[in-house]
Amino acid sequence: MTTAATVSFAHGPHPAPTSAERRAELLADPGFGRVFSDHMVTIRYTAAKGWHDARVEPRGPIPMDPASSVLHYAQEIFEGMKAYRTADGGAALFRPEQNARRFQESARRMAMAELPEALFVEAVEQLVTIDRDWIPDGEGSLYLRPFMFATEVFLGVKPASEYLFVVLASPVGAYFKNKASAISVWVSETYTRAALGGTGAAKCGGNYAASLLAQSEAIAHGCDQVVFLDAVERRWIEELGGMNVFFRMDDGSLQTPPLGGTILPGITRDAIITLAREQGITVREEPYSLEQWRADAASGRLREVFACGTAAVLTGIGTVRTVTGDFAIGNGAEGEMTERLRSALIGIQRGRAADPHGWVHPV
Ligand SMILES: *Cc1c(COP(=O)(O)O)cnc(C)c1O
Repeated sequence: MTTAATVSFAHGPHPAPTSAERRAELLADPGFGRVFSDHMVTIRYTAAKGWHDARVEPRGPIPMDPASSVLHYAQEIFEGMKAYRTADGGAALFRPEQNARRFQESARRMAMAELPEALFVEAVEQLVTIDRDWIPDGEGSLYLRPFMFATEVFLGVKPASEYLFVVLASPVGAYFKNKASAISVWVSETYTRAALGGTGAAKCGGNYAASLLAQSEAIAHGCDQVVFLDAVERRWIEELGGMNVFFRMDDGSLQTPPLGGTILPGITRDAIITLAREQGITVREEPYSLEQWRADAASGRLREVFACGTAAVLTGIGTVRTVTGDFAIGNGAEGEMTERLRSALIGIQRGRAADPHGWVHPV
């Protein structure tokens, strides 16, 4: 069995690191997912050797055989997490062991090799340590993208026996550009994201590939994001393309769709449930239908709706568009509870608030 202790990371020197001046320019307005730090971490797996050949090296292309099985049968999984600049000038991750555990669960579902949790966390720490100057000051953060794919050169259909694990780092600003207030969503009644027994709870690239046409439909209807319904009754709200969703009622309670195999178990979702309950808010993990959503928005029973995930943090949803008509949530602006929970979460992540659950992981 491979453990973190048995794998050591080789460091390849960078021939031409980005100058401090150029980096400052890039960090001034990084956008989302277009700017990358100087390094990457890679670890290889083969059935014979287990996890080996861990490296921290200059970020660059990965040579691949065109028969690598990921290019044919899509064994690929990923994670999304952030390193934050803390109030004391240090760097911190948020609950990285949760990402490590979910990465193992995704690997299991996709019949891929499971990276030991400690090795996952160490790989991320190695990258944050070497590229810590790439963490933006202020409200930005360094988005980290661990991912793994099948590299076995074989066209037969079977779980691959070789994998490459990689971690990239990308300084980011806000996920939704020019979003001073709430976003708009399109409810897809044509396409579904996940079915029971499928891969909805795994963070795999294939789920995103299957969601892009629905997301394009959302954009074509002038919306920021798509909302998916369940695949059986086409009635129950599941989640957005890459974010979980919460509804706040007029009695001050919160409701969010239950996990059940078709929804991605968000770490932000889990943190929000915990923080809300600590603030005395009742949180129900119960199904919520599109008809009810429309009726509650009309009656005023529904006061706010927000989406949440690592990339977008918490984002209010103000407008809902469907084939049978549009409706607004409240006055269409971001709600008070959304703001309150977001600042509670960000306060912990950036070391400005107490961390009673030990969620913050200094690097
Ligand atoms: C990653 C992801 C989320 C959010 O998960 P976090 O752990 O909160 O970042 C929600 N839905 C989908 C489909 C995702 O891929």
